[in-house]
Amino acid sequence: MTESAQPVLDEAYDVVVIGGGPAGASTGALTAEHGHSTLILERSELPRFHVGESLIPETFWTLKRLGLVERLHESAYPRKYSVQFFSEGLKPSAPFYFDQYKDCESSQTWQVWRDSFDQMLLDRATELGATVHAKAQVIDAHFDGDQATGVRVKVAGPNGERIEKDIACKVLVDATGQSAFLASRLGLKETDPALKKGTVWSYFENAHRDPGKDEGATLIMQTAGKQSWFWFIPLPGNIASIGCTADMDVLFAGGATAEEAFNRELERCPAMVDRLADATQVRDYMTTKDYTYYARQGAGPGWTLVGDAYGFIDPVYSSGVFLALKSGEFAADAIHEAFQKNDFSAECLGSWLDEHSRGVDVFRKLVYAFYNPNFSFGRFLKMHPEFRSNVTDILIGDVFKPDFTECFEAMGDVTPPVPA
Ligand SMILES: Cc1cc2nc3c(=O)[nH]c(=O)nc-3n(C[C@H](O)[C@H](O)[C@H](O)COP(=O)(O)OP(=O)(O)OC[C@H]3O[C@@H](n4cnc5c(N)ncnc54)[C@H](O)[C@@H]3O)c2cc1C
Repeated sequence: MTESAQPVLDEAYDVVVIGGGPAGASTGALTAEHGHSTLILERSELPRFHVGESLIPETFWTLKRLGLVERLHESAYPRKYSVQFFSEGLKPSAPFYFDQYKDCESSQTWQVWRDSFDQMLLDRATELGATVHAKAQVIDAHFDGDQATGVRVKVAGPNGERIEKDIACKVLVDATGQSAFLASRLGLKETDPALKKGTVWSYFENAHRDPGKDEGATLIMQTAGKQSWFWFIPLPGNIASIGCTADMDVLFAGGATAEEAFNRELERCPAMVDRLADATQVRDYMTTKDYTYYARQGAGPGWTLVGDAYGFIDPVYSSGVFLALKSGEFAADAIHEAFQKNDFSAECLGSWLDEHSRGVDVFRKLVYAFYNPNFSFGRFLKMHPEFRSNVTDILIGDVFKPDFTECFEAMGDVTPPVPA
């Protein structure tokens, strides 16, 4: 979007959303559709690059509600029918085909470039009546006592100079992703000491893909010794996103550079070496560190948190965009109810948080199992084939309805605790 194409800002909106990722776009699209004046403020120039390209099937329902499924079907994004896990850098387990478990319109999903996917969401928000302002960095949030009342934002002035502007709102939504703008300001951010992970990743052209239905699969490869794992995500244009995640002190041991860390772990993953035999790296290595955290409180008077701004677990099950979209949907409906009742309390704006947190917890438990060196999906499912549907539920993202208690109890039995 060019500077001159930026919309004129009003003094006040019903809803101001900080951040134009999937969480901010879905919240803003749906509050606008509910009929509330909505402003989405995004600090980057659009479209903007972002890691996190693999969707899971249950994103379908929010995308359908947003009216985007047809656009996705028409897109060049690879179709994803399954996820496949490899152990010890070599041994593949049988792929989890989503349609073998539940054959319906949502059992196929997509691998997306996040710049164009996130832009599509923002375009939809605009179509539904939201105002989207790019290159607009929120630098302060205003409160009257505990009550959020608006923001101060830096935008381009009439002559291209940066100016600061105050904008009032009834509801302030923090969708700032890992920046966690409000949670950081309000001192609500907690990190998870069990998941102090780092990641190094890049993009490769012509990496080997399996044929047919498996061409669009996400591959998750634990390396020999289980100290790290690689993702393989096929993208349009014969590009693959490939990244490696491990404890930060393992990944960057001895002050390793991103390239050194990636290549050292690659040696422990012959299955990935094979995939890269004819590939060319097309972007520099990128890193991100210490990204797992949550906010102790998800809503307050006049404000709420969505997506990564509320919390982020770990990328192993590609749950981030799903949870961002879903929390946006939950939050938009709660905000609409708040306007109907004229009740902007934490209870009303956060009425969805318990249900959402239960779903996040289901992912979290399977993340802990994945990082337990004594756990193996293959062994667990051989001993407990009756829980294959529960595990597939989680990989699909169907985490809000089914009861997973027995499955996690059984997992605890076959997964001895890691010795202290
Ligand atoms: C290594 C790694 C791999 C991942 N892989 C996957 C994957 O395969 N699949 C998946 O689903 N998820 C994945 N994720 C997670 C996924 O990327 C995120 O969960 C998702 O982007 C969250 O969406 P969001 O809208 O909450 O935040 P974001 O997409 O981060 O959007 C937040 C936006 O807020 C803007 N912003 C921040 N501060 C301000 C401010 N002060 N003013 C205005 N704007 C601001 C930012 O510019 C940004 O555009 C991965 C994450 C990591 C770290």
